[in-house]
Amino acid sequence: MDHILVTGGAGYIGSHACKVLAAAGFVPVVYDNLSTGWAEAVKYGPFVQGDLADRATLDEVFARYRPKAVMHFAALSLVGVAMQDPGLYWRANVLGSLNLIEAAVASGCMNFVFSSTCATYGDHDGVVLDEDTPQHPINAYGASKRAIEDMLRNFSESHGLAHVIFRYFNVAGADPEGELGEQHRPETHLIPLMLDAIEGRRAALTVFGSDYPTPDGTCVRDYVHVIDLAEAHVAGLGWLLQGKGNAVFNLGSGHGFSVREVLQAAASVTNRPVPVVEGGRRAGDAAALVSGSTRAAAVLGWQPKRSTLPQMIRDAWAWSQKPGYGK
Ligand code: UDP
Repeated sequence: MDHILVTGGAGYIGSHACKVLAAAGFVPVVYDNLSTGWAEAVKYGPFVQGDLADRATLDEVFARYRPKAVMHFAALSLVGVAMQDPGLYWRANVLGSLNLIEAAVASGCMNFVFSSTCATYGDHDGVVLDEDTPQHPINAYGASKRAIEDMLRNFSESHGLAHVIFRYFNVAGADPEGELGEQHRPETHLIPLMLDAIEGRRAALTVFGSDYPTPDGTCVRDYVHVIDLAEAHVAGLGWLLQGKGNAVFNLGSGHGFSVREVLQAAASVTNRPVPVVEGGRRAGDAAALVSGSTRAAAVLGWQPKRSTLPQMIRDAWAWSQKPGYGK
């Protein structure tokens, strides 16, 4: 069976990708420093605890497992923190990825699937975003991911590194079989925070800004189920392993929901009120980020199956009801 090196495989998205990879017949080898991930989430293959800054350990992992491809999820990904400390994001994301890419190329592992983000597009004021939309990131998180996209293109031209770049919109939900889910320390994402407020684990959900140029004044985002996203990665891997070359895909549902619409959906799925307080804007947030692309469907045959708001909230809610959640 082919090994796939999964950086960040102990994290939220990476762990779900490992489950889907294993179901597709691959052995996911997780490389994670556990700064935001969980050893308990590594369930489907070997685990190496390591940092992307540690080139010697990366070289050992490539030599030991001879992976057919890399799936690179490991990154810092919080817009708020990136605004406070941009250097942290450039160092961890850009230098970390450079080490990883150089180690992959040096070992002859020439297939690379990269987690990028719709934050690379920036704020486009009502434009529905497709892969050809100009990238003008408005925070260091988006800028660091765009820099890594450029890096992949350079290594492709000079060394033949084949890559698939996925630009995610807002990932939500949990494994419907209940083996995995979302848990960050501290939690900053809208849906888990809403569920915490409903459950009384926090006093209220703060709405970050209601004066945006959107229909109800709150930010609009495109939410995609984590399992649908993981399935796209396996399709992207298949594309690379068939030698089809470099590609870039947006991964979103194509539907935008405001913060207030997500609040209403959470209240309706759980049949409980969501305690809310109104707050100011969070620095670095774009007003609206919605995918207008059908490329992943047309080229990879990717069809999101669980990416409706009620389904994502139901799966996240079931996960948040499990013993040990939030501990
Ligand atoms: N948001 C909010 N209150 C919160 C957390 C998030 O109003 O406590 C908003 C945030 O401004 C954004 C949307 O919810 O418009 C999604 O934010 P999240 O942090 O989940 O993901 P991001 O869009 O930053 O990747």
